[in-house]
Amino acid sequence: MTAAGTVPAAKVLIVGAGVAGLQAIATAKRLGAIVTATDVRITAKEQVESLGGKFLTVEGSEDLETKGGYAKEASEDFKKKQAEMLEKAASKSDIIICTALIPGRAAPRIINEKMIDSMKSGSVIFDLAVSQGGNSAYSEIDKIVDKKGVKIIGISNVMNKLPLTASNLYSKNLFSFVRNLYSRDKKQFVINLEDEIIKNTLLKEQN
Ligand code: NAD
Repeated sequence: MTAAGTVPAAKVLIVGAGVAGLQAIATAKRLGAIVTATDVRITAKEQVESLGGKFLTVEGSEDLETKGGYAKEASEDFKKKQAEMLEKAASKSDIIICTALIPGRAAPRIINEKMIDSMKSGSVIFDLAVSQGGNSAYSEIDKIVDKKGVKIIGISNVMNKLPLTASNLYSKNLFSFVRNLYSRDKKQFVINLEDEIIKNTLLKEQN
């Protein structure tokens, strides 16, 4: 709000509400945007709503969450229904932030050409999944593609824009990993095969 009048809030659509998506929702909300988000995991609904976002879901669809908390590949039927649902949301969005990821797989293609065509000139799509192939049509690694005024941004390594923070986080991860290998009682490193992190990071189990 200004003395000259009120500026309408931007409409932001977040695709994928995991680590990056939830942070994007919180940031967009803090900046005053109207935020909508979608995910294939039903548990994401509560998290999106707790941050003040509106959750969009394909009615009657099964929960696509794995035991480990990640997403599974969606069926063709689901993808079709998801596209129908997102066409309306995309046409109203000023900003779309794409963060959908299935570990070890190519990024699911979610934002199609028709959706981009329907967006207003001046809108922006930020495809964080570009290095896994991208969630959006037209997104290209380390390029900003302009489609009739809609900018599709595909910066592949956001972390290298924040080298100090990235190094701090990386070293904290490594330190936690190594500390978990050390037994304080035995005062030595122990490969505990009952430990989920150790077990899942072994390349080969000893006989
Ligand atoms: P994440 O696994 O925490 O989140 C991905 C989300 O996408 C999950 O909630 C999953 O359920 C959802 N998803 C999968 N398929 C979907 C579909 N078809 N429709 C809707 N949602 C779907 O991963 P993340 O750490 O948030 O990373 C997401 C992307 O952003 C990756 O490409 C990653 O490289 C990139 N990125 C992440 C960070 C970060 O700090 N976490 C930083 C820069 C870039």
